[in-house]
Amino acid sequence: MVYVVWGVAVVVLVGTDKQGGNCKFFWGSTFHVSTIPRMQSSSNTILQTLHPTPTNALSLICMHRYFIKTPWIAKKIFFNYIWSLPATGRDIYLSFDDGPHPEITPWVLDLLAQYEAKASFFCIGNNVALYPEVYKRITNEGHAVGNHTYHHLNGWKTSEAAYIGDVKQAAQLIDSKLFRPPYGKIRSRQAKNLVNVLGEDARVVMWDVLSGDFDRAFTSQQCYENVIRNIAPGSIVVFHDSEKAFPHLKIVLPRVLEFLKEANYSMKKIDL
Ligand SMILES: [Zn+2]
Repeated sequence: MVYVVWGVAVVVLVGTDKQGGNCKFFWGSTFHVSTIPRMQSSSNTILQTLHPTPTNALSLICMHRYFIKTPWIAKKIFFNYIWSLPATGRDIYLSFDDGPHPEITPWVLDLLAQYEAKASFFCIGNNVALYPEVYKRITNEGHAVGNHTYHHLNGWKTSEAAYIGDVKQAAQLIDSKLFRPPYGKIRSRQAKNLVNVLGEDARVVMWDVLSGDFDRAFTSQQCYENVIRNIAPGSIVVFHDSEKAFPHLKIVLPRVLEFLKEANYSMKKIDL
């Protein structure tokens, strides 16, 4: 039964890739794919797991068109991308997209320093041009940086040449072989051509867990639970140092850091 469900999910996932992300059912939900291990006993269990409260389950599925926890099958299909890192010890990899921002990024950096945490910042080239001092502070404090294009382009809606040109423009300001495609949307040919811009060891870094901090359909409590219920050693977790995400981030990040500290996690930068 589990395999049938995920077979359907994969078909939709692949179909979505071709159709531009408009699937209304399986592509995206908060039914926490982390529940896969708990979905193995019976279809009854599956229903209970997917629908903890019948009244809100459908609305959750309809509201969010992405997975909070990346399905293992997606990791298998797109095996060339980095989704998580080897689970040695209790290392965890927090990442922040869309900065630098003149106020929010320094706030994040202060908080990380307080917890002796390192993280990875996937920066938009245009924001680095606007706030070079903030970018410099990220690197000076020992965090990793990655390229997130210059204009935050959607790879599915951008020609190969324009996409690679934009990554190249960002690479003039961001010294990194790490690349995270905005929205997680990149065509395989675009990904292959990254080496022409970022070098032979260019790596596409995706994620294992999305906090959902950018999504107003979540409460801050739900964003917090999205993280703490789905992480495991080696997880790459996504937050955003952006104005859109800050209403959630300012509540969720301190709580997540406190949780990770209590749970003896080591917060590290992505170092490939
Ligand atoms: Zn982004």
